[in-house]
Parts: sequence; structure tokens; C-alpha cells
Amino acid sequence: MDYIQPFLGTPAFVLAIVLAFALHTLIRRQPPRLIQRHPPPPRSAGFSPFTLLPSEIIQHIASYFTAPSDAASFASTCLCIRLATGTEYLSALHASPTERLRLLELLLADAPNDPIANVPSRLLCVHCARLVPIYIGCGASATEACSKSWVSTECIGSSFLLPLFHTIMAMHRHGRPYDAMLDRLTPPTSTNYNGETGVSSQHTVRYQISAEGFLFQRTQATYIFPPHYDRSTFAFKFFCDHIGGHTGNIPATVALVLDKVCSGSHSWQSDFHWCLTCQTVLLIGARKFRGRGIGLMVTWWRDLGNGLPGDEKWADIIREYDPTKSKKKTANNFMYIVEAFERYNTEDLGFDGLSTLADRKELLRQSPYEVGAGK
Ligand SMILES: [Zn+2]
Ligand SMILES: [Zn+2]
Ligand SMILES: [Zn+2]
Repeated sequence: MDYIQPFLGTPAFVLAIVLAFALHTLIRRQPPRLIQRHPPPPRSAGFSPFTLLPSEIIQHIASYFTAPSDAASFASTCLCIRLATGTEYLSALHASPTERLRLLELLLADAPNDPIANVPSRLLCVHCARLVPIYIGCGASATEACSKSWVSTECIGSSFLLPLFHTIMAMHRHGRPYDAMLDRLTPPTSTNYNGETGVSSQHTVRYQISAEGFLFQRTQATYIFPPHYDRSTFAFKFFCDHIGGHTGNIPATVALVLDKVCSGSHSWQSDFHWCLTCQTVLLIGARKFRGRGIGLMVTWWRDLGNGLPGDEKWADIIREYDPTKSKKKTANNFMYIVEAFERYNTEDLGFDGLSTLADRKELLRQSPYEVGAGK
């Protein structure tokens, strides 16, 4: 050890450590594109330059990792490091749920993606604190909370699964690709024509992760009512179950925008509405569809949170209406959601501005054309 001591504090030593670790990381984690084209050859355990270092130096490097999750992640790099670092971090890791969750995120970030589907082969379950196989789930040792989390939550989104959500947010936090996972969260656009009522409708859900690491969701429901359709019979599906509380004026707003268009305007848009319980921002618009009828566009935006235990905003959506909740909040408290999702382009939030060309074509294709309708 004598020859090591004077060397340890020098900038050259720190540089050597950084270089060795960078080299080690590079060798362990090749760019995903490279993996897709040429599967990497099996690595021998002795390939890492770390194995060439004396264990005193490995122990010294380990002493820099003060967070138990970092120490555990470093120790799990390979056998040579695990043997050198020992188990000192284990009791601190055991005592802190936050650190255990963070370790799972680090392990998830280190695991390679499935090369074909480009998704991780395991998802993060925060309830049993494990990485579980994507197609199997928590298995026989699933807790009650685990089982519930593998059932999609219809009022949030038909494909919204908590393990998928938590995994996506962890991947984002650690700079891993998550687009393919986000696609799995997103249900396909559904377009329907009801032959009995003559109403055509379309339902679209989109997700985005902000630079700050929050998941935002935008849902659009578009309806085209044929001429002479009795709109009072129309059952509009609301965006949350908190209707009748602080969002009770929604049906009146729907009637208002439709009346504006029926009495001459080409299009009309409401002010922003919002729900205090689930912090949803809502916009209601109507416009004429020449040859088809009157269109109603209902769009709502939500912040589902970053998925960490302190910020689970998604849970507000399934929460019961709370009349004691502060009514001081105004639309401004929630407009950041719309601004973040639309990247500050809040000018055109109508049917043409928000939907894709393919979705617009499909809705018009299913909506019968009649000369002179929707004037
Ligand atoms: Zn190694
Ligand atoms: Zn579980
Ligand atoms: Zn609500």
C-alpha cells in the first residue's frame, strides 16, 4: 500500500480512475444501434480493465459512491468488483425504500433492450420492488397492489399500465430510449360510425415526456352530428368522474359552443376549463363540417407526474371528488400542462391543429356526405 498512498490524491490518479471507468462503461454498454445490427460477441469476465486493478484501488473508487444505490450498482458490475467492495452498503440500502427504488432504476438502465421490440425485457414494479419479466409480471409472489397495477386504468387511458409507466419514467431519468415503450402506452386512434344515430366519432390519446421528466397526456374526442340530429339525446362521455363538483358547467359549455355554430358561426371555442381534483385542463370547440354536419371537439390535457413516490399525479384521476379541495386555484395553475404539451403553440387547438392528416381523413371517410348538410 505504501506506493499507492502518495499517488491516490493526485490529479493524475483521479484522471486515471475517470478514464478507466469511462472505458469500462464504454465496453459494457455499446450503442443500441450497434447491438441491433451486430450482436456483440460474448465477453469474457477478464475483459474489463478493472480486473487488472489492485483491489485497494477498486475499494478506493467504491468509497466515492456515497449513495448506497450507487455503491450497490457499482458492486453489481461484475464479480471482481463485488468481491473487492464487500457488503458494507447493504444495511443502508435495506433501510431506505428510496435508495432501493433508485438501485432498481440503475439496474434497469444497465440492462440491454430486447433487440427486436426495443423495449426492456423487464419492467419496474414499485410494489414488490423488483424488475419483473415483461410478459409474466410479478408472478406468484405478486402483492394485492401488484395485481391491481397490471390492470389498465380505463379513466386514465386504455393502455395505461403502472409498471409500464414507472419503467418509462425510469428509462427517461437515466437517458435510455423509451419511445417504443411510450408507443405501447398509447392506444391506437379509434374511429367509429354509429348507424343508428348517424354520429361519427374519433378518440385519440397522445403522450409526451417533458424535459423535466413529467408525463403529459392529451386526449381528443371528436364527434360529427348529422343535420337534424337531436343533440339533447347525446350522451357525452366526460373526461373524469368529478363532474358535478367543480366541473359541473361542462354540459352548459357543450350546449353553448354547439348553439354558436348552429346559429351562424363557422367555428367556436370555449375558454379553458379545469378540474381541481385531477388537475385536468379542458377545451371544448365546435365547427361546421360542410356536407356532413356539426362537429364537437373535446380536448383535455393532464400531467400524470414523474412516477416517483412523491409525484404520482395519475392517482388524482382515480381519486374521488373532494369538495374541500381549495377553490383558489385558477386555470393559470394548470395551463403549464397545455403549454408544455403544445410547446407554447397554443394558437390552433382545433380539429385541424391537433389531429394528424390520417386521423382527419379516417373520420371524414366514416362520416356520410350529404349535399347541403352542415351549412
Ligand atoms: Zn469488471
Ligand atoms: Zn410487483
Ligand atoms: Zn377530475
